[in-house]
Amino acid sequence: MPDGDGMRLRLAHLYADVMNVYGDRGNAIALRYRCEARGIALDVDGIGIGDTFDPGEYDLLIIGGGEDREQRRIADDLVGRGPAIRSAIEDGLPTLAVCGGFQLFGERYVDADGGVLPGIGVFGMETRHPGEGEERAIGNVLLQTGYGEVVGFENHGGRTWLDDGQEPFGTVIAGRGNNGKDGSEGARVANAIGTYLHGSLLPKNPAVADFLLGTALARRYGEGARLEPLDGALEESARAAASTITRRGDGEGLRRRLRGLLRR
Ligand code: GLN
Repeated sequence: MPDGDGMRLRLAHLYADVMNVYGDRGNAIALRYRCEARGIALDVDGIGIGDTFDPGEYDLLIIGGGEDREQRRIADDLVGRGPAIRSAIEDGLPTLAVCGGFQLFGERYVDADGGVLPGIGVFGMETRHPGEGEERAIGNVLLQTGYGEVVGFENHGGRTWLDDGQEPFGTVIAGRGNNGKDGSEGARVANAIGTYLHGSLLPKNPAVADFLLGTALARRYGEGARLEPLDGALEESARAAASTITRRGDGEGLRRRLRGLLRR
């Protein structure tokens, strides 16, 4: 078994130049940092519209968020790649899909103008944007997940509804999540995580990043491939700060709603 120095992973970053709203490319930066700090090389390939791409040749797959116009730009190209991506995820490819990318990994996204963008059906879900005049889900988010508490922020108009039996990524402690009503956030299938959380997500949520990397290493080099622990002091202090702000901030939202009720 090669030690950290001999291991190498390949990351495919879908539409890195287009689907990068709120700096979601920070997820690729965090994965590269957490690999190189362990002596593991990470090759990152940006996959653009029309590029040749075989998901089976990669160890990790990520896609970031984008406003409706960016989603319209990439939707047809992504749909064409749907069968190969679904097959790779069914085979266990560790994947992270954020916000606009997450929406298009569902069955469809009905955008703010009522246009229907087909998704690739990784997650059993549909997203519908109620129209530009409706309130967006904007703010800090705190989730309970299988990786402990996860922090981030959301900014989306679309409301996502999971099919019966579709597992969420987490449940909302503070914030809106998929639709602001059923307490679900994101979706999970095999080793694929979909979420609305920007931040970007991975720098402040190392447990999620290391789930993706540990899974990729084991698939590439066998169960004996170890992900050495990293000093997480900086990440944990950032998480704690974000968690405190979110809990306090959500209280402010609650107080605002109560004041509204009292004024009626
Ligand atoms: N355009 C989508 C929405 O408004 C996704 C936004 C995003 O990726 N931040 O819901």
